[in-house]
Amino acid sequence: MIENMKLRKTNRPGWFEIRSSCPICGEKTWCRINPKEGIVYCMRIPSDEYHDSTIGRQYKHKVDKTSIEPITPEESGDVKKKDLPYLDLIYQTMLSEMNLNPFHYENLTVKRKMTDEMIRVRQYRSLSADIKSKVPIRIGGRLRNMDSLLGVPGFYQSNGKNGPYWTMAGAEGMMIPFRSIRNEVSGFQIRLDHPRLFLRFKGVKPSGIEVKLLPSSGLKGTIVEEMESQNGLRMAYCELHINNVVTKATLTEKEKKSVKGWGEYESISIELVQEDKYQWWSSSNKPCGSSIGGPLPYHLALPVQLLDRWTGELASDIASCDEVWITEGPIKADKAADALQKPVIGLPGVGAYSLAIEPLKELGCKHVVLAIDADAAVNPKVAETLERCVEYFAKKTDMKLSLAIWDMSIGKGIDDLTDSGYLPQIICLVESKSNKAAV
Ligand SMILES: [Zn+2]
Repeated sequence: MIENMKLRKTNRPGWFEIRSSCPICGEKTWCRINPKEGIVYCMRIPSDEYHDSTIGRQYKHKVDKTSIEPITPEESGDVKKKDLPYLDLIYQTMLSEMNLNPFHYENLTVKRKMTDEMIRVRQYRSLSADIKSKVPIRIGGRLRNMDSLLGVPGFYQSNGKNGPYWTMAGAEGMMIPFRSIRNEVSGFQIRLDHPRLFLRFKGVKPSGIEVKLLPSSGLKGTIVEEMESQNGLRMAYCELHINNVVTKATLTEKEKKSVKGWGEYESISIELVQEDKYQWWSSSNKPCGSSIGGPLPYHLALPVQLLDRWTGELASDIASCDEVWITEGPIKADKAADALQKPVIGLPGVGAYSLAIEPLKELGCKHVVLAIDADAAVNPKVAETLERCVEYFAKKTDMKLSLAIWDMSIGKGIDDLTDSGYLPQIICLVESKSNKAAV
């Protein structure tokens, strides 16, 4: 039974944001549920079925709708997000009060082959537990106003011995700035240092139960294992074979009872999955917190030598924006901008293409090149998304739309490809209408 679920209305009829623990990932906020249909769109735990929306990638999971108690949705307590120039002021002040730790520096230089110059100009930072309450004090001191953090996603008020104090949300990881077409920092994604692992059930979906992994689980990787329920015995443990190490997960008696239909199945399979490595830095549903959404940020990356002298004018004033590339993820966009020497928009997911339309129009873009991961090209879900994207562009814009393609064996992402010294081939998907007229 999923009890006392706290829900908040969304713009989509029938759909609610889950403010109490999500039955799939156990986290509060961000995930969505349609109680009538018994569908959860979890933002953190991957599943085979997903789609990209303007709030990010939504993974579809089924829950037993009869197990959901009647609920009364509540109104949002979030503080409205401030406008872009204000967010930029706070975030720039914040960036100047934070550092990049050696672990993240090594990731950027060794794994991602970035130069010190790129790392400095692009302003990546490390979020750790020990700075969460210190940084807000420094920002407040510099702006001479502690309430300046109100309406800035990522910040919220916590309660301490001496009353409420401002602090930063989010798990430890590397913070990656998102930039507008006028170089305003509009928000961040965190690349988590330690994405958590979850068990996912297949066959029967025992909603609302938590499976605890034994402490011996230094788990990595994803694999499906059968969980057997022997007649009468109703076995209550499963074994996960990961990197040749067998780890046991147990269900407690109480949890067993909460599995609806337990014993009706010969076997159910469970899968160990990792939460999304990239998370928005948001303080939605925290005291005095704000959501990063409404609308979500996109990220415009310019080549680093241009970014270094970009002071807030429209990007098209300092760089040619006739051709703009689109990829998934902010770091990939940063890397692609340098490798291709082109402006690149990093979207939170390929399906969030509608976020790019207005910025592209404002930049006067004539040609958009989509550079999505090569392995995605063989994924039918992505093919569907691509089709919708083509339709959308043809209807809403007069821009030419192309797709960058390459041999998957050279690299998965556009950044892997350019790291290997290659450039993709470009094929046209939609011809510009005015171009057609001219011909
Ligand atoms: Zn969830």
